[in-house]
Amino acid sequence: MAPITEAYLTTLATADPGLPVPRPTTPHWLKDPHALAQVQSASLPKAVDVVVIGSGITALSIARTLLSQSPSIRVTILEARALCSGATGRNGGQIVTYGAAAYSQAKRVLGAEAATKFVDFTFDNVAAMSEAVKEYAMTESEYRQVRRIRCFTDPEYFKKACESIAEYERDNPKSKHINTYTVVDAQQLLKDHGIHGVAGGIIYPAAAFWPYRFIAKTYQTLLNQYPSRFSIETETSVTRVLHDSQGENVYPYAVETSRGLLRATHVVHATNGHAGHLLPALRGRIVPYCGTMTVQDYGTAVPNRGDQNTWSVHQKPQLDESTGALASGTYYVQQNAVTGQFWFGGEFKTLEETLSADDSSKSEGSVEHLKQRLAQFFGLKPRPDTCLVSAWSGVMGFTCDGFPLVARLPKSLTSRDGTGEWIAAGFNGMGMSMCLLAGKGLALKILGFDVSDWFPESAFGLSSDRLQSRLTVRATVDDFLSDYQSAIKATKSTKDAQVAEAGGITQAKL
Ligand SMILES: Cc1cc2nc3c(=O)[nH]c(=O)nc-3n(C[C@H](O)[C@H](O)[C@H](O)COP(=O)(O)OP(=O)(O)OC[C@H]3O[C@@H](n4cnc5c(N)ncnc54)[C@H](O)[C@@H]3O)c2cc1C
Repeated sequence: MAPITEAYLTTLATADPGLPVPRPTTPHWLKDPHALAQVQSASLPKAVDVVVIGSGITALSIARTLLSQSPSIRVTILEARALCSGATGRNGGQIVTYGAAAYSQAKRVLGAEAATKFVDFTFDNVAAMSEAVKEYAMTESEYRQVRRIRCFTDPEYFKKACESIAEYERDNPKSKHINTYTVVDAQQLLKDHGIHGVAGGIIYPAAAFWPYRFIAKTYQTLLNQYPSRFSIETETSVTRVLHDSQGENVYPYAVETSRGLLRATHVVHATNGHAGHLLPALRGRIVPYCGTMTVQDYGTAVPNRGDQNTWSVHQKPQLDESTGALASGTYYVQQNAVTGQFWFGGEFKTLEETLSADDSSKSEGSVEHLKQRLAQFFGLKPRPDTCLVSAWSGVMGFTCDGFPLVARLPKSLTSRDGTGEWIAAGFNGMGMSMCLLAGKGLALKILGFDVSDWFPESAFGLSSDRLQSRLTVRATVDDFLSDYQSAIKATKSTKDAQVAEAGGITQAKL
């Protein structure tokens, strides 16, 4: 494996993510395309109030809020490929927040008050998802409220999560999220939940669903509700955004697309991992991170607990130095409550495969790794040749400070005059705990409402302080370098422990 240098990481992190690639891998969620999959008008509208680029959950929430809160606003969604063909249609279907377990880390970056606001926002988003699904697509989306069983193989990680929860509760004794978590040890996890090889875990409320069905049905409802004010243009790539600073133009933005030009008063980038393509100043600040999902079938070898639980396992990243593949150490599983099949995601791949916006292929190393890991976690006899039903990849947007960008774009990022350009992107693989309310908050800001009492501005805003200190190319590169260094260290100590154990066994035999 070639050494991972700062220069090489900078090149990878700042590369243009490009437009979403044609012919992406097919997620199992999208195996039966919705009637709206390729929806578009005969020709593009000439001018609208708001153009939203992207058709995932963030775009949906922005459009829904704008249309419901303003009686006359006209909104058009522009999507490069089929409807909901980005991360939202490719994810794990887990509606869950790290919540108070992420509090200490957020507090280090934001301070106690802003960290609490952020954590509470994610709890509220999980609740808002439940309300939205009930309103639009409860049955179709197979939504169910479950217990999240979040497990840690590493005692140090487990301890840190528990300490963070305790710190949140100490700092916020009146919070409604006190006593949300049950802490369980390794024996209980094995005995009660059949999870092998972990040090401990936390159990708390979460949900699971079929994201694509929820998104598509909700778009259908909005199109029916607002036929003269709302349109969706799929297979329409945005190639450039221009601003006309001359005169009093009501529609100062010209949005150049693969199907012609469209004018707008506001433009919203809900393009997640691809944000840097149209906004080059964001390259290296939001990086595309390609993730892997599988569906695996163990038949009746395991009971179907899909309507009760979802699971995740966290371990220290490990590096295979011969290939350069990194096991990132986060695994997430849901079981389909109807079929019992496992929907299992996680990564074991090279840096080049990871920092990629290409979801037309998948990492075979990750798929093989996921087959082994699922069997290990549930103590199953591996079925390497028969268990795999489906595998695909998907592009997330990662930021080095761990928070998305949900704000009006300053000129320093657009290089354009004008105050009508906005962004909601960079959800760090946790969009189902943020996107719905992030989209709502952004849409309300566009309409001029004050959302400061609930919107986590310090975390999501684009203050010059954030842009100059927390959200820089340098910080992104340092973050990845430190991940690799920790992985090398963790791999070495695992190997040392294995050698020591083998030595012990040999001695015992003698
Ligand atoms: C493998 C995987 C597993 C995940 N698992 C989970 C999970 O279980 N739980 C969870 O909370 N989160 C998960 N996530 C993350 C979550 O899916 C995302 O955070 C969330 O879907 C982001 O939604 P979005 O609408 O902002 O972006 P997206 O859904 O990615 O939508 C962006 C859209 O913009 C379009 N686009 C981009 N550029 C252009 C352009 N120039 N012109 C036109 N259109 C453009 C894209 O085609 C895409 O459809 C996972 C993601 C992946 C990839």
